[in-house]
Amino acid sequence: MFRVAQCWDDGVVSDIALTEMFRKYGARATFNLNPGFFRPQMRRYSWTHEGFDVYNLAQSELRSVYDGFQVASHTMTHADYRRMSADAFVGEAVDARKYLEDLFQRESRGFAWPCGRYTQELADRLLESGFLYGRTTKNRLQLLPVEHPLILHSSCHFLNENFMEIFERSREFGVFYFWGHSYEMHDEPSQLAALEKKIATISADPDVVWVDVVDLIREEGAGDGGQE
Ligand SMILES: [Zn+2]
Repeated sequence: MFRVAQCWDDGVVSDIALTEMFRKYGARATFNLNPGFFRPQMRRYSWTHEGFDVYNLAQSELRSVYDGFQVASHTMTHADYRRMSADAFVGEAVDARKYLEDLFQRESRGFAWPCGRYTQELADRLLESGFLYGRTTKNRLQLLPVEHPLILHSSCHFLNENFMEIFERSREFGVFYFWGHSYEMHDEPSQLAALEKKIATISADPDVVWVDVVDLIREEGAGDGGQE
């Protein structure tokens, strides 16, 4: 069995195309969200990425867009720990989780570090606060076992030019986990088609089982993966 997981950050309108694509191939995914940027009914302009205007989804559409997928805390406002106290950062992480658990009416114990910035101290604090894992932006070929579940690296970014090669090389370790931002494709059909080709190839692989990121940690069993 070759487990494959993916996650996408920031809760943006361009995620809609991804969720439609993933449903088509039965691909699981986790979306890391910043609830502080969701307006009740309106999409919110957030920033411009290389000429492409990025909008956050409206709160009113979150449940339908992410139906069938996992959502996880990415802090309320994409917090930068260097600009606040540790307590404030942990508060941002926990508040986002509570918001998502209330809205989606299910447990949400994953975390993704904004901009991949983390510290050992904050990792310990988030583990104590009940988070099961925290994704960095560092890459490793062998992801498991983790030394610290709140410092979980991934195999690669989805635009890595060696994506399929890394996928193949990860096979011997049994886990491939990639991440990205849907807005990096700028809604360009050619970019979406390139991603779709990857998703289709992975889904068609007889050894592959799509899993949620949290399953990678939960099923690891032993170690310090629990909050208790
Ligand atoms: Zn982010």
